[in-house]
Amino acid sequence: MRSKPITFQLPSVLREMFETAIVFLYPAKCRVCDDSLGVASMPYICADCWQDIRFLEPPWCDICGTPGVNGLCDACATSPPRYGQLRTVALYQTTLQQAIHLFKFEKKKVFAEHLIRLINVHIPVDCDVATYDFVLPIPIHKKRLRERGFNQATLLADGIAKAAGVPVLTNTLVRKRHTVAQSSLDREARQQNIVGAFDVLDPDIIRGKRLLVIDDVFTTGATIREAVNELWTADPAEIDVLTLARTMNP
Ligand SMILES: [Zn+2]
Ligand SMILES: [Zn+2]
Repeated sequence: MRSKPITFQLPSVLREMFETAIVFLYPAKCRVCDDSLGVASMPYICADCWQDIRFLEPPWCDICGTPGVNGLCDACATSPPRYGQLRTVALYQTTLQQAIHLFKFEKKKVFAEHLIRLINVHIPVDCDVATYDFVLPIPIHKKRLRERGFNQATLLADGIAKAAGVPVLTNTLVRKRHTVAQSSLDREARQQNIVGAFDVLDPDIIRGKRLLVIDDVFTTGATIREAVNELWTADPAEIDVLTLARTMNP
């Protein structure tokens, strides 16, 4: 087993102080372009790189939101997903990929607020959050929640819902099974890994309601598909999906 760097063995307060000292001693470089960070910029990513995010513009598939498609994509035309529409704010590449990585895996919660602002400013025109009864983040298992300290989808969902004045449900769609991280698996394994991972508690709350499911990244769609299938068991009126990012070729 490789030994971990000493910084990860320190309590979080000490670790933050340690990191602050390092940043002070060694002027930080942008994680994306490697240029030095200006004093006024966000940490880790320079102002120029923040301008590089590719926000999605229509046309996109009416259902799954695949960019560059008029009407329906081939996949949705032959076997439509069970959600009404899935919309995404931007492509999962360069700056946004790095920002999500810093937020989610390196636990830099400072990014939550900035990413929420990006979503609320650039939200696709046909996704009107205020028209939904509830916003539901894709849950993570409590074991992973303990490891990470927060669910990135919940933080994003809170910020999106608050701006639109819609309540967030975090105890209705739950993760009943701990699964290997989807990001470590290929397309087929992702599908098998996630089957039966979700459960709906208190189905009465969402029966007949319009639901907006939130996740950070849309890759193969396996997680979303499974969550949506489980939500339908409670007989809501409608289920749509909004993700912050999506990969170009799922
Ligand atoms: Zn940069
Ligand atoms: Zn489609």
